[in-house]
Amino acid sequence: MFSKTNLLDLDRPQLAEFLEGIGEAAFRSQQLFKWIHQRGIVDFNAMTDLSKSLREKLAEKAVINVPVFEREHYSEDGTLKWLFPVDNANSVEAVFIPETGRGTLCVSSQAGCALECTFCATGREGFNRNLKVSEIIGQLWLAQNRFPQADNLGARLDGVSASRVVSNVVFMGMGEPLTNYDNVVHALRIMLDDFAYGLSRRKVTVSTSGIVPNIDRLREDCPVSLAVSLHAPNDALRSELVPINKKYPIAELMEACKRYTDSSLGSVVSGVKWQRRGSPRDFVTLEYIMLDGVNDSQEHARQLINITEGVPCKVNLIPFNPFDNSGFHRSPDTAVTNFQKILIKSGLVTTVRKTRGDDIAGACGQLAGQVENRRSPRRKTSTDSLSIQ
Ligand code: SAH
Ligand code: SF4
Repeated sequence: MFSKTNLLDLDRPQLAEFLEGIGEAAFRSQQLFKWIHQRGIVDFNAMTDLSKSLREKLAEKAVINVPVFEREHYSEDGTLKWLFPVDNANSVEAVFIPETGRGTLCVSSQAGCALECTFCATGREGFNRNLKVSEIIGQLWLAQNRFPQADNLGARLDGVSASRVVSNVVFMGMGEPLTNYDNVVHALRIMLDDFAYGLSRRKVTVSTSGIVPNIDRLREDCPVSLAVSLHAPNDALRSELVPINKKYPIAELMEACKRYTDSSLGSVVSGVKWQRRGSPRDFVTLEYIMLDGVNDSQEHARQLINITEGVPCKVNLIPFNPFDNSGFHRSPDTAVTNFQKILIKSGLVTTVRKTRGDDIAGACGQLAGQVENRRSPRRKTSTDSLSIQ
């Protein structure tokens, strides 16, 4: 059966190709991109600078299916969480965090996650499926179009003006972005495209539990900021907390971080913005959840200093976000401060993440959505069976 193409699934070169395929000029993709992504228009008839015949042809061959959220939760601190049904059985979540001078959108890349990190609510749900490009970029489309323009300029939160415009995107919602590689890269390209959202590649961050080969590919295909979920300073502990470590152990992961930041390695050079020579960022952010009595001792801090020797990085200590039956507890503030002091003394730039959206379970690792698990984590180990695109 003939099915219409959802234009939200296409980056600009793909849209140009689609237009050529229906006998139209490729450069029209620029106009169409602006209508869809900048003005939020999904009705071809309203695209007044396109000829009537093109509009009719588009209506016949294409659709623009944007996500519709099922629920919206406001947190006391201004954080907003949306739940999107992506099909009959699955929902995913996106979180918007308004701050003074910037607005950060945390997006999901999969319904569930196969990687089974023991401290993560998404990992406990198991994996259902990869999100399509339209389902990833749709989260940004929705966040940008949710508020009337006037309201976009600044929301008042606790007496300060906070931005409701998305200036930063982090792939820290549900799923492992680098195991949904192709779709994530297309979505990234749309985020960076000046005819769409025009985000700076430094302000778009892919967070990964450490899929080494795809860290290398990302550097070539669409270098953006990289966060690596480290969480443990030795292989024995990391393999327990982040089981993918058995496949890509710490030493390999640290080498991949060095390559990602190495500006002397040539990358593909072309006229397009997402492919540039040089390193995407001069450092990688290493995420480290502070788990009481598990990975937060002074000895762990010293081990962390050793394994990051020579790695251009910044460490971000993350307070654990609890969820039912997690079996873990947040490290006390004193443990976090002592850990941070040891790292800073060794010269490692170390920050502690502020938690936001706690009251709506909107913080990282708490995004459970609703996933019909086709692959129960208790039955299969993802590190053995994981297939990487
Ligand atoms: N799969 C990717 C991105 C999604 S998880 C990754 O693992 O990096 C985004 C971040 O939330 C990761 O750093 C992850 O380790 C962290 N996280 C998971 N569960 C958490 C929890 N309960 N509390 C705090 N952070 C958590
Ligand atoms: Fe997946 Fe990331 Fe959660 Fe690990 S922390 S289970 S990789 S979403």
